[in-house]
Amino acid sequence: AKRLGRSTACFYDMKLAAALEERMALENELRQALMNGEFELFYQPQISVSDTQCAVVEALLRWHSPARGVVSPVVFIPVLEETGMILEVTAWVLRQSCRQAKIWRQQGINLRISVNLSALDFRQTDLVSRIEQILQDEAVQADWIELEITESALLDDIDRTLCILHQLKELGLSVLMDDFGTGYSSLSYLKRFPFDGLKIDRNFVKDLPEDTSDAALVSAVLAMAKAMGLDVVAEGVETVEQQQMLADLGCPRLQGYLFSRPVSAQELLALDMFTTYP
Ligand code: C2E
Ligand code: CA
Ligand code: CA
Ligand code: CA
Repeated sequence: AKRLGRSTACFYDMKLAAALEERMALENELRQALMNGEFELFYQPQISVSDTQCAVVEALLRWHSPARGVVSPVVFIPVLEETGMILEVTAWVLRQSCRQAKIWRQQGINLRISVNLSALDFRQTDLVSRIEQILQDEAVQADWIELEITESALLDDIDRTLCILHQLKELGLSVLMDDFGTGYSSLSYLKRFPFDGLKIDRNFVKDLPEDTSDAALVSAVLAMAKAMGLDVVAEGVETVEQQQMLADLGCPRLQGYLFSRPVSAQELLALDMFTTYP
């Protein structure tokens, strides 16, 4: 038993060492990724229920790793956050989104781009001026860009959170609460903070229309948002039945695989869901 104990401990030490080594390798590769241009933005359309056209796309980060292939953001965003590299990456995402918005406009397509902010971005004291600088550098109107912030990113310091949100709105940016309903205080935060809208998390959409309690919840959220003058995007719409129910309940914007997966800027144009202007 003694020998077994020792070899088990050794086995776990080895596993831990391997995990640490893998984590270090990932970190180092991510440090190179930005420099080597391995990141790309994909864009997922949001459909306006009123005309079934796309007016907004969400920018979603993709990493083409030479060693690992395409890596999911679910894997690498946490590493970027833990190391602080996310700050630089968010700046890149925002800059890239501005440039893409300009390119689309030159092609007669007025698409707004929705950019995800991480909790760490929101903790930067100079967040607002950094964003303002990028908009200025790229000569992009603030109302071409939306920001998505999760409840968990909001600071414990309510006054500071309020101050940042007001400053972002003063710049002319729309700010939406992402993954609405997954946190503990979504409702009270919505009342307290000046969001322009919310994104209903996929978890509340995926079992529609059969799940009656999810249907009641989504219906209540939509009624409340309407009363508060908030925009709403339903995430993770995968079926026509979900689309129908959400449209019937008055959800103004829908996003999900039913319309398109996130795609490259080039592929997006081929989707042909845009009102174009000469
Ligand atoms: P999120 O912000 O909630 O983004 C929506 C995720 O749901 C995306 O996953 C999208 O591909 C996926 N999705 C969209 N429609 C459907 C659907 O109909 N069914 C299903 N099953 N999934 C759908 P993705 O691209 O893998 O991104 C995962 C998460 O990584 C994002 O969740 C966001 O938290 C983070 N992320 C991605 N890009 C960025 C970024 O540029 N900055 C930051 N800070 N986070 C990002
Ligand atoms: Ca998002
Ligand atoms: Ca989301
Ligand atoms: Ca999410």
